Amino acid sequence: MTTSRVLLIYTGGTIGMGRNPATDALEPLDFNHLVQQMPELQAIPVGIDVHQFPQPIDSSDMNPQLWRRIVEIIVGHYDRYDGFVILHGTDTMAFTASALSFMLENLTKPVILTGSQLPIHQLRTDGKENLITSIEIAAAHTAAGRPRVPEVCIYFSGKLLRGNRSTKINSEGFNAFDSFNFPPLAEAGVNISYRDDLILHPDYDRPMTPHFVMDTGVVVFTLFPGIPERTVRHLLETPGLRAIVMRTYGSGNAPQQPWLMQALSAATARGITIINITQCAAGPVEMARYSGGFLLKNAGVISGYDGTVECAIAKLMHLLGHTTDPAVIRDRMNRPLCGEITVT
Ligand code: ASP
Repeated sequence: MTTSRVLLIYTGGTIGMGRNPATDALEPLDFNHLVQQMPELQAIPVGIDVHQFPQPIDSSDMNPQLWRRIVEIIVGHYDRYDGFVILHGTDTMAFTASALSFMLENLTKPVILTGSQLPIHQLRTDGKENLITSIEIAAAHTAAGRPRVPEVCIYFSGKLLRGNRSTKINSEGFNAFDSFNFPPLAEAGVNISYRDDLILHPDYDRPMTPHFVMDTGVVVFTLFPGIPERTVRHLLETPGLRAIVMRTYGSGNAPQQPWLMQALSAATARGITIINITQCAAGPVEMARYSGGFLLKNAGVISGYDGTVECAIAKLMHLLGHTTDPAVIRDRMNRPLCGEITVT
């Protein structure tokens, strides 16, 4: 029997952090620190190699250039490994997971992001279980010898979530992530039970196609009662603005004020893409349900369905990086590219 091989990509995050004696704040340390704290790594029956960022980061410093770097690392090692585990801070993990899901088209191997809430050197750390199970999932195969989960996922606190459906929901609890509108792809208890019916099936006859270009001309804008007209107009005049993620009420509602609808119509007519994502944690946008949502639809606003804000931003950056045609962006936003929305 051949041993599976997994490449561990260490970007930073709490899992590998230690205290700065001068400030007492946590800061990223290099991978040797993590290995010293975790002799269990030697006991895992998987061939593990490590690629670490030259400068490990707190994930608040993550950006599209570093996403490109991660994609380059995966592409450079793609044929030699059965799967990839990315150690990443929790703060922006859902953004990175979403971005990678679009940047790695037709992914045929697992890419599992994980991290921890407590650093690895702390006695009660959640990092060991998260890391060991992620490696196991990245190395897992079906009876037919295919990778068990050929998707970008987040594994955290017993749950394997589709990356582009995930959101950080807790800054303190070990259950830091959830995916409100899509069930977990696997749950780890005594055994790991996979939901094979939910896992994506790539086309194994086609190669994985990496995408590197992301355009950051995107803004997130949250509605609130009393939002001033001048604020909205100012936002819509932002230089370089190409797309907006508009966080609406309930099932995709907005105030029915003529100035708002006119301003949004004028923006969509100028080629700005506006995506409607609800402020609710769970449930989809249904723009035809209330007249406020219906007016948004008439103003050219596109439904974000049951997608997350993190995913909408990443998908828009990816699409804007590949086309200047708003009709193409509208078409792609209206269908799932890699399981990120449910269109019924
Ligand atoms: N600030 C840390 C980071 O995102 C938090 C964590 O890793 O949990 O890098």
